[in-house]
Amino acid sequence: MVKWSISILLIMLLNLAVTSLGNVPNFDYHAFYFIHQWLPSYCNQKGTKCCYPPTGRPAADFTIYGLWPYNDGGNSLQNCPGSSYDVAPLKAIQNMLQKDWPSLTCPQIGRKFWLHEWNKHGTCSKSVLDELAYFHAASNMKNKLNIFEALSKARIIPNNQFYQVENIKAAITQATGYRPFIFCNHDAEGNSQIWQVIFCVDKSGTKLVNCSGSPQGQCAYSTVKFPSY
Ligand code: 5GP
Repeated sequence: MVKWSISILLIMLLNLAVTSLGNVPNFDYHAFYFIHQWLPSYCNQKGTKCCYPPTGRPAADFTIYGLWPYNDGGNSLQNCPGSSYDVAPLKAIQNMLQKDWPSLTCPQIGRKFWLHEWNKHGTCSKSVLDELAYFHAASNMKNKLNIFEALSKARIIPNNQFYQVENIKAAITQATGYRPFIFCNHDAEGNSQIWQVIFCVDKSGTKLVNCSGSPQGQCAYSTVKFPSY
């Protein structure tokens, strides 16, 4: 009888250990890539159509594309174990996300963009930031950086004109103290244009840091168009 009880207890303990291991993300991350996007450069690509959310056209601003944890080698971590779509926490911060992290895909995907980003990237930083903390961190960082204003102050504005990539980087560095990476893409006519502005942020999602490496795919052009909104 005692032997049976001990065996049952051992099986229960083993089960408990396996279950909790499955819930603990076993990916360690070094820091985050914090990626802004210029939505007009997303929407004016060949074959891309955009739709405004029910709340209307978002204000002209760089908005959040993602907050991507990366490892010591600079590689972004994706699809970590324990991913879960949890809509509930987002309800409380919906207005903030609609302003700071909108998606203009057609048909409108609404909150699916946030859930996609959380599921693919955010869950890999779950050991430090839960879902709500993750979205708050990204939003706070965007508003602290305010790169649209930094560029406007340097007279770099979305007017379909071409600007030196070096001047864009210099204006943002002067305002934020950190030199960003710039990614570009092409509009439907084939012009290179500013598309993403990337910084590195510490593990807690609160402080800019120097990146340990360089993300692949940086803009190789010396000038880029800043498409109007
Ligand atoms: P990922 O994080 O998987 O690299 O890319 C983002 C995914 O979200 C893509 O599949 C893209 O189609 C979708 N998406 C939805 N809305 C947006 C948006 O506003 N900007 C970007 N870049 N991707 C979006």
